[in-house]
Amino acid sequence: MELSAVRKVSVVVNTVILLLVFGLAAFFAIIKVPFLVAFSVPTACIYLVGYFLIHKDKLDIYVWMIYCWLTLYMGVTTLCLGYGYGFHLYCFSMIPIMFVTEYIAYKLERRSMRALPVSIVIAVFYILCTGYVSYFGPVYERDQKYAALFWIFNALTVFGFLIYYTYYIVQAVIVSEGKLKEAAFIDKLTGLYNRHYMFDRLVALTNENSGNVLAMTDIDNFKHINDTYGHNAGDMVLQAVSERMRTVCTDCVIARWGGEEFLIVSKLPVEKACAMLEELRQCVESSPVSCEGTDISVTLTIGAAEHADGQDADEWVKVADSRLYYGKNHGKNQVVAEDYDG
Ligand code: GH3
Ligand code: MG
Ligand code: MG
Repeated sequence: MELSAVRKVSVVVNTVILLLVFGLAAFFAIIKVPFLVAFSVPTACIYLVGYFLIHKDKLDIYVWMIYCWLTLYMGVTTLCLGYGYGFHLYCFSMIPIMFVTEYIAYKLERRSMRALPVSIVIAVFYILCTGYVSYFGPVYERDQKYAALFWIFNALTVFGFLIYYTYYIVQAVIVSEGKLKEAAFIDKLTGLYNRHYMFDRLVALTNENSGNVLAMTDIDNFKHINDTYGHNAGDMVLQAVSERMRTVCTDCVIARWGGEEFLIVSKLPVEKACAMLEELRQCVESSPVSCEGTDISVTLTIGAAEHADGQDADEWVKVADSRLYYGKNHGKNQVVAEDYDG
């Protein structure tokens, strides 16, 4: 979340709460609770100071101030009116809100309030206020005819906060785990899976018997491309070749196995898989990579191996590798799908 967005949301929330404070002050005047009317004055001032803090980008102080005052406000209203009005319920919604605030502050690399100790303080404060009221009764015994309305409104708001903020936390964790997984399993340059991921996947595919043909693919004379056109051009070639693999080898698992080496696993029967690999080879050969006005010719050598019964991932890779090796030593730019030597 952007800092400017957090500031905008803070201004909106501050305004909504300030309006509520005025509305509640009017209600306290109607039911003749002078202490709460008077208490609304410093409360309104706190929110007016809030605008200033948001404007000055002191969001951490703002958040602390609001949470402390809201807790105090809940305690005071509960002590004065009892808990028939449901003001004390807000203590429950404060807790996920504070954890989300701590999380957002962490994301924004801001100084953060510690949600855990503050939550404990709120819990203690809640128990003291509600305990006092249940033992001694509220300070002002008022007609309870408005209490049900307040109770429903406050309970709905508190449930709304609880549901929204808990949902927010879980979604944030899911998104962040997705990003971590991507960082751990995806090669940054090409966007393909990396070797670490692919090896685990290969083990799973061999166990399930669900991959059929494995192709070890290597760019020919790539060192020469780097030496002639530069490392950046080499990177662009890697990206372009990866893109062509994604386009031609649909429904395959593709990974960057090493520098300019790729591993493709297909479910297709061996003839169809070899036809697809030949199409890939031709596609790369016939579409040079354009880099800063220069067309760089690229070719691939591919060693392909059908999965044999009982073969483990290592053995499967070795067979494909030996065929790639054969292709490299016999002219490159070809697909080798059978054993020729030893
Ligand atoms: P062959 O046809 O036998 O495969 O020869 P080759 O030149 O392609 O293979 P070699 O192993 O001699 O060189 C591979 C080069 O790939 C060496 C290394 O510097 C380069 N390389 C490895 N990773 C990257 C990378 O991420 N970007 C770039 N630009 N170059 C890389
Ligand atoms: Mg190479
Ligand atoms: Mg190589």
